[in-house]
Amino acid sequence: MSMYFYTVKCMLLDMEDSKFCSSCGRSVEAGMQFCPQCGMVISGSAADVEFKERQEEFNKAVGMVRRNWLIFLLAIYAIPVIITTIVALVDASNIANSIWVSDEFQKWITDHGYNYTKSDIQGFITTAAGLGLASGICATVSLVLVYKRRHWVIAVATCFIAAFLCFWSFFGIIIGILVGWMLVVSRDIFEDESQEPAESEAQ
Ligand SMILES: [Zn+2]
Repeated sequence: MSMYFYTVKCMLLDMEDSKFCSSCGRSVEAGMQFCPQCGMVISGSAADVEFKERQEEFNKAVGMVRRNWLIFLLAIYAIPVIITTIVALVDASNIANSIWVSDEFQKWITDHGYNYTKSDIQGFITTAAGLGLASGICATVSLVLVYKRRHWVIAVATCFIAAFLCFWSFFGIIIGILVGWMLVVSRDIFEDESQEPAESEAQ
């Protein structure tokens, strides 16, 4: 537990190798791993470096699990949405026709006094399917960026755009906002490009 508080403290203070104990302030000699007064790990010592390495490994493992979940959630949204919306766009006139000829639909427009035509129905289908397709494509862009661990900001933005383009679907907007929020808090699983200037960017 004290290790935990020590790490938090170091993160807060952003301390480098120290000649003083970060906990009690006692002066410590070079090569000391633990403070002789309070037992705290000395910042920059071998024990400290090892602890930080372990912690980094753990964080990486947690990050990979989160990344796999994000990929899974984006895929179960994007793939069916893209397929169904393409089918709906290709088949819009047939779908409009089958809606149009149904007694239920005719009764519904008569009851409400709407004056829709068959081409209005086709227009609604095309619009909804077009928005859905755009949403599915945005989710796919987000998925690819999560997979490549690149461009966190764009991954978050495309995910939220995907959610809002899907405003007509409760499922779509809920999963979109949920995944968008997961992405917002998952900055750590994305590689910071500034840290790897040598690696070439494959767009
Ligand atoms: Zn101390």
